[in-house]
Amino acid sequence: MDKTIALVAHDNQKVNMAEWANKHKKQLSMHNLVGTGGTCKTVESVTGIKVQALGHGPDGGDIVLANEVLQGNIDVLIFFIDARTPHGHEHDIQTLVRICVLKDGPIALNKRSAELMFSSEMMKEEVK
Ligand code: PGA
Repeated sequence: MDKTIALVAHDNQKVNMAEWANKHKKQLSMHNLVGTGGTCKTVESVTGIKVQALGHGPDGGDIVLANEVLQGNIDVLIFFIDARTPHGHEHDIQTLVRICVLKDGPIALNKRSAELMFSSEMMKEEVK
């Protein structure tokens, strides 16, 4: 176990992230968690698990995270996207998704995908 899991949720998805993180609290506690600023606070307040903040998403946090993915420092990305609202940092969001695809990194863009990912035996495998 002991993967590095990145967590990001847009504002309209933070309730979903809080519910999902609370449900998977035990499993999440076995890994290193990082995420964008607001999402970290949400997950920490619900689970009590420390999440390393990489900066607020709209202020460049997604780009910092994309760089972490590029460097090979992220094993899994859970990214709950608000698909209804236009975002000022749309390019940053696209960059983060693009880099994950490029690096063939597991990425879940909504709650059911995250459920599926966390039910996978691959989540129990050692990293490298
Ligand atoms: P936040 O950013 O976690 O800092 O709120 C999320 C985002 O909009 O990318």
